[in-house]
Amino acid sequence: MEKSRRKIKIIFLIFNLILSLGILYFGYKEFNTYQNNKKSNKNININYNDINKENSKLKQEIIDKKDELNKLSDINKLIIEEKENVFKLASEVEHKIQNNESNKKIVYLTFDDGPYYNTFKVLKILKDNKVKATFFTTNVNGTNCFDNSSYNCHSIYKEIAKDNHTIANHTYTHGWNKGLYSSASSFMNALLKQEELIKNYTGLTTNIVRFPGGSVTAKGQKDAIVDELRKHNYGWVDWTAEDGDGRNLSSYNQGWSMLKNTITDNIEVVLLHDYHPITTQILPDLINDLENNGYIILPLFYESVMINK
Ligand SMILES: [Zn+2]
Repeated sequence: MEKSRRKIKIIFLIFNLILSLGILYFGYKEFNTYQNNKKSNKNININYNDINKENSKLKQEIIDKKDELNKLSDINKLIIEEKENVFKLASEVEHKIQNNESNKKIVYLTFDDGPYYNTFKVLKILKDNKVKATFFTTNVNGTNCFDNSSYNCHSIYKEIAKDNHTIANHTYTHGWNKGLYSSASSFMNALLKQEELIKNYTGLTTNIVRFPGGSVTAKGQKDAIVDELRKHNYGWVDWTAEDGDGRNLSSYNQGWSMLKNTITDNIEVVLLHDYHPITTQILPDLINDLENNGYIILPLFYESVMINK
């Protein structure tokens, strides 16, 4: 009896031991699973935080890029603003020069009657020398360049604009001996037609005019034309110096000495023509000489003292 009781007790103890071990094993397993889950949840959280961080970083990058793009699309505005600042400063310097308060000198290089195919050469020289000039344009060449009939000269307008030179108006017809000056309205028609052409090819508007042949050619119509120009907010300018390429320029030396004889004041407007091969030949030396003699070379602007209003 005693023996079988002990046996039962032992069996009971063994059973208890197995049960406890079982509970411990399953408990441990559960705990482990729980811990693993916790760990992976944490990992998920970490990953989620990373993604969030990455996401906002990307969002910021997109915003930055958009800002950059906005800045780029405002580039024309920036250039215009920068030009305005340059012209404001130039205007102050001009007044100081005129009042003998500055020893600076300014020269405006102007090219008439283009664009021609040769204008490409002129643009290259100006670019190589980091110089901005003024182009008084007409439609004389039309879609067939005078100096390269297979080339469309209209496509050169945008090249002049791209290089930030001043594009000015020399009338559509240039017909100084073909009725251009028969009345103020005939002049204005040719002027506004050229304005439209420039606008079409460059998107720009102009506010500086040069009379074909010079203002003296307008004779009795000059005052009436000037009144019309004022009404339309145009200024106008003749020239104070030249190399004679609009007349009978036949050699480098002839052009050079004419320039030397006419560029004498502290503010000069030089008349040149962008078709002339001798002018193209002289141009790099002229720029060099002007700069060595203390001249600042600038493109014309409406507020300049040289522009009649
Ligand atoms: Zn002309």
